[in-house]
Amino acid sequence: MKISDRVYFYKGREELKLVRGVGSCNVIVLKTDRQVMFDTGLVVGGAFSDLSRNAAADGLDLSRTRAILHTHSHWDHISGDCIVQSKYGAKVYAHPWEKQIIESREAAFKALLLDIGEFYKEVFGSPAIVYRVLLWYLGGSYSGLRVDETLKGGEELDFGVRVVACHTPGHSPGHMAYYIPDEKALIGGDLTDLETGSGADLNNPHSSYPDGLATLDKVRAMDIEVFLPAHGDPVRGKDNVRALFDRLIKNTHGYVTDVTRCLSGRDATLTEIFSTLMPGTPFSLKGMKMMQILTILKYLQEQGKVALQKEEGKLVWKLNR
Ligand SMILES: [Zn+2]
Repeated sequence: MKISDRVYFYKGREELKLVRGVGSCNVIVLKTDRQVMFDTGLVVGGAFSDLSRNAAADGLDLSRTRAILHTHSHWDHISGDCIVQSKYGAKVYAHPWEKQIIESREAAFKALLLDIGEFYKEVFGSPAIVYRVLLWYLGGSYSGLRVDETLKGGEELDFGVRVVACHTPGHSPGHMAYYIPDEKALIGGDLTDLETGSGADLNNPHSSYPDGLATLDKVRAMDIEVFLPAHGDPVRGKDNVRALFDRLIKNTHGYVTDVTRCLSGRDATLTEIFSTLMPGTPFSLKGMKMMQILTILKYLQEQGKVALQKEEGKLVWKLNR
């Protein structure tokens, strides 16, 4: 989809998602003499061939891509690097925290699932091998990816068109958004998920509530005419983007209010809090949503507002009164 003469947006493929929103991310291409891709999406199931074909219909040749700017290291955002980097020779940029994940599949697996620690069994249930196989299949059998240049945020990159790297932690510690000043366009990655969420996307073991909220505040203050998320549709018009971020900020504050209210009546396990706050969540989204609640509980624990106790083998959360 053409956003402007220079910016092109390609939606992730629905059938390659675990569930609406999860997996198969959107890919954005900046058309210049030194063409840029923002994330590379999936390869499995012909996803990359489709992307190439759709881009070709817009007059873009993905083999001419000179740079890949990664928002972060998750499998659905980096798998296409095995073509765009390894075959087309594009240079890869990412934050140092994401670099160590992109360059090691083991680190990637840990960061997505195992780093949840003692909550693994409660959140995921199935043995880790099940998820290893699933992610190996969906993410593709890439190996040997490398990040050539690291970005900490604030860098102005010149690809014939200026791109500003913006450090936007919350979803992951090294998450980056990219601003194209001449277009007033922001490539937002997973700082929110407009398909399955209503606020900051804090669905993995390295998500941070205060960082996610600070990022939304920071982005809300930017001059944005086009917001391009990795999951969901573009949002156009300054007023619409502002209204979107107002809503995301309000809902993200609501995460804390909801969890606190849930614990004010009775002590509860993570599973009980999840069932109370998010009844009817599809099974395939359960792990992600439980991790989001856990992100909030860990924040409240750091603040001294809740405590965690082991009772009869169960991990029980209590409000400190
Ligand atoms: Zn992600």
